Amino acid sequence: MASTPLQPVRGTRDLIGEDFRRYHHVVTAARRITGLYGFEEWATPIFEDTRVFARSLGETSDVVSKEMYSFTDRGGDSITLRPENTAGVCRALVSNGLTQSNLPRKVFYAGPMFRYERPQKGRYRQFHQIGAEILGAAEPLADAEVIAAGWNILEALGISDGVVLEINTLGDAESRDAYRTALVAHFTAHKDSLSEDSRIRLEKNPMRILDSKDEGDRRIVATAPTIQPYLTPAASAFFAAVLKHLETLGVPTRENPRIVRGLDYYSHTAFEFVTDRLGAQGTVMAGGRYDGLVEEMGGPATPSVGWAAGVERLSMLLAASPAAPRPVAVIPVSEAQEPAAIQLTQQLRAAGVTAEIAYKGNLKRRMERANKIGARAALILGEDEVAQGVVQLRDLDAGTQDRIPPAEAVARLIG
Ligand code: ATP
Ligand code: MG
Repeated sequence: MASTPLQPVRGTRDLIGEDFRRYHHVVTAARRITGLYGFEEWATPIFEDTRVFARSLGETSDVVSKEMYSFTDRGGDSITLRPENTAGVCRALVSNGLTQSNLPRKVFYAGPMFRYERPQKGRYRQFHQIGAEILGAAEPLADAEVIAAGWNILEALGISDGVVLEINTLGDAESRDAYRTALVAHFTAHKDSLSEDSRIRLEKNPMRILDSKDEGDRRIVATAPTIQPYLTPAASAFFAAVLKHLETLGVPTRENPRIVRGLDYYSHTAFEFVTDRLGAQGTVMAGGRYDGLVEEMGGPATPSVGWAAGVERLSMLLAASPAAPRPVAVIPVSEAQEPAAIQLTQQLRAAGVTAEIAYKGNLKRRMERANKIGARAALILGEDEVAQGVVQLRDLDAGTQDRIPPAEAVARLIG
């Protein structure tokens, strides 16, 4: 008896055909644009010591308290599949002894992330992020440039229309202490109406309540004070400088005092690129300044700023599906012409032309195969052609046909 077909794990998906092409298109554009800004790409492990995330993201964050894939490995160590990559990049900066030299470092990454969430459109358990980090720069221009790189990626993908940069400041430590006191007063007055999670947050990290997704919490958050009156002059000046640079860089912004990031490590700038085109999953790119994170990993104070974007959400925004590559089909009319056809196929590939040789069947079957793979042209080799040192070049779009020497056919098919 045949066994039951196996299914992908809930919340995971296979990237095949158009899905892969969308994914690839997004990552390639991001790699190119960040390259223009001088970012270098890093690849860090997809699993880390659990402490890398527990320490940095904060124990009351949704990610750490509910969403991590953690397990004890066979050696007894607690391992976590990375739910995000900023902590891993900072850990790598420290582990590789890169905290003193060549700062700032600009790092780009792309890869899978893992969160135990309720799967829905735009929300998966294995998803992909691209991200950019500037490590070791305390200047507001770093914030503005990393954001501009993100904006340029959206533009390059043709999806910046209808996406807005919402930006806020979380101030410096002094601003946040004052703000925290005001928040505690506000939430304590509404304590009985808060969700159970948020009552715990009130004890441990009241700012986190601002990021709660609970309906009841949202109503209490709506009337909470904003940080603006509590900002120190230095924190205000920093934020003003970020906004000024963004204007110079041509990035349209909308200040939103409700933007707080869900993870503990942020200070000063916090931002999200949001759209109303994706329903509830409207945040496509999010980030901020995280001046204390490298220290959490055991390194020296290294002020840093960055963002991460969900590749699936960006992919969904792409208007058109990126075109599949169109090969040239090489068709031997019978087995006798196979050696000549194989050689011609290799000449095409060596010249940078995507080419496929049809493996079996008569001319009709092999032409069907050429159509099925979306070939732009067919090169047909029969007995006469081989004898005369020519090939039939059939343009499958125009329907034209020429008998020309193979070298000429290759030359025509380049580019
Ligand atoms: P959300 O509020 O949607 O849960 P988040 O604040 O948890 O987002 P971040 O940790 O800031 O998200 O991650 C950055 C980006 O990664 C998000 O803006 C989103 O585009 C994407 N992302 C996060 N979680 C998922 C997921 N489970 N599936 C797909 N994309 C995701
Ligand atoms: Mg989330």
